[in-house]
Amino acid sequence: MAKSNSFKAGRHFLQIPGPTNLPDRVLRAMDRAIIDHRGPEFAEISKRVLDRIKQVFKTNNPVVMFPGSGTGAWEAAIVNTLNPGDKVLMFETGQFSSLWSEIAVKFKLDVDLVPGDWRSGVDPKIVVQKLSDDKEKKIKAVFVVHNETSTGVASRIGEIRKAIDSVNHPALFMVDTISSLASIDFRHDEWKVDVTVGGSQKGLLLPPGLSFNAVSPKALEAHKNATMPKHYWDWKPMLENNKNGFFPFTPATTLVYGLDEAINMLLEEGLENVFARHQRHAHATRLAVKAWGLEILCKNENEYSNSLTAVMLPEGHDADNFRKVVLDEYDMSLGMGLNKVKGKVFRIGHLGDFNDLMLMGTLSGVEMGLNKAKIPFKSGGVMAAIEYLSK
Ligand SMILES: *Cc1c(COP(=O)(O)O)cnc(C)c1O
Repeated sequence: MAKSNSFKAGRHFLQIPGPTNLPDRVLRAMDRAIIDHRGPEFAEISKRVLDRIKQVFKTNNPVVMFPGSGTGAWEAAIVNTLNPGDKVLMFETGQFSSLWSEIAVKFKLDVDLVPGDWRSGVDPKIVVQKLSDDKEKKIKAVFVVHNETSTGVASRIGEIRKAIDSVNHPALFMVDTISSLASIDFRHDEWKVDVTVGGSQKGLLLPPGLSFNAVSPKALEAHKNATMPKHYWDWKPMLENNKNGFFPFTPATTLVYGLDEAINMLLEEGLENVFARHQRHAHATRLAVKAWGLEILCKNENEYSNSLTAVMLPEGHDADNFRKVVLDEYDMSLGMGLNKVKGKVFRIGHLGDFNDLMLMGTLSGVEMGLNKAKIPFKSGGVMAAIEYLSK
């Protein structure tokens, strides 16, 4: 028999910044029989999904969809557009941009990785400087992670686009939106992004297992001459098959049903309302953190993430121990500090299928945990959020 204290009544609070809580509507949409993925019924669903997903990326260009994690879509962006030895510009904004640059190195790209402090986003001024120094236009691509999930810092993609244009540089623009898509405003076409990388399990309201590349005409042009070996991630057979609602290999049928419903939900709420909701919850969270007297890892107010907040603990207090207390006592999972900020920060995910009371439960759990773990802090964070949300 299980020990009585191992039983957890009520709902677990999954407040990591992805995978996120699944809406019941999406769960129900996936609860159906598998159908023939080469038959007419599936073709109709996937054509509808591939068409409507474009609205989420704010694009009229094709979006390809792979069964796979976001990491796969990172690799796809590289192997479909570049050649071994190509020079590329990348920025160390945190763990996820560092991992993307490691993939680039493995594929023999010549990576200029601009170091960072893991508290700031990509500085458009450095983009201007790097690209204007590149007189021979050797840099083939600029890579940016829109929302750095390890630090809670959002880079300003529109301003980085302007920086690239200001020096008339022809480099491809590659953006990872895995934790910003359907949470923070992103505009694939308007910002002339060439490859946008997406994943299913963060703001897109789905389980892990699907990843995306939104592809510009310029990226398709580069694809024609890209010599990197590729098979699974090759856009060409994918785009050809997708025209008729099919895939070159077995798609993740169940996740495609889920995506159909997730898109319904996002469009019913309206994307701009989705962004405003995330902004409001992020603001309430930051008010709480400031009232607790704790420091937000993100340094610059104009780079605050609306998907998550990374919170620093005072010197001498271990964030992983704090997270363990919160999990054991209140059955809530908070995000851990990764790599350079391990043990120093915890992350509050406030993205996806989320509302005011879920946020208040989350912030209450954090405040109760701070008390329980004997972290020095000022009470009143929860009250500050309540006042803001009920104004
Ligand atoms: C989660 C995440 C990834 C990694 O996605 P996986 O699905 O774990 O491969 C990459 N980039 C960002 C910004 C993320 O948030």
